[in-house]
Amino acid sequence: MNDKTIAPEQVMASLFRGLNRREQMALMSKLEIAGGAVYRALASGESNALAREKLLKAAEDEERNGGLLKLMTTPKDKCEKCGAALTDPAAGHACSFQCTFCDPCAASMNLVCPNCSGTLSPRVFA
Ligand SMILES: [Zn+2]
Ligand SMILES: [Zn+2]
Repeated sequence: MNDKTIAPEQVMASLFRGLNRREQMALMSKLEIAGGAVYRALASGESNALAREKLLKAAEDEERNGGLLKLMTTPKDKCEKCGAALTDPAAGHACSFQCTFCDPCAASMNLVCPNCSGTLSPRVFA
C-alpha cells in the first residue's frame, strides 16, 4: 500500500471489501481507536487551547465509537441471567450489543433483551 496514486479513502474502502458485517465492525473498531491516537497526537502539537480541547474531544469520540464496535463484536462467555458458561461462542443467544444469555434463559424472556429491548438471536461466531 505504498502506491501514492491511491487515495487514502480508496485504501480504507479496500480494507473493508469482502468482509462480513461483523468483520467490518471489528475492523472499524480498530481504525476508530487508532484514529483516537492520531487526534491525541495532533492535540499535543496544538498551541491554541480551544483547538487542543476540541481535538481531545474528537479523540474521545473516536475512542467511544471504537469501544462501541468492540463491545458489539466481542462474544461473552457466560449467561447474564443465570451465569451458565457459554464457552462455545456459537451457543446461546445475544442482542446486537452482545448482551448474552443461554438458550433456556433467552426463551424464558421470549428472545427480548432485558437491557436494550433488542431481539436475542442465536450467536453466530465462527
Ligand atoms: Zn441462563
Ligand atoms: Zn441488549
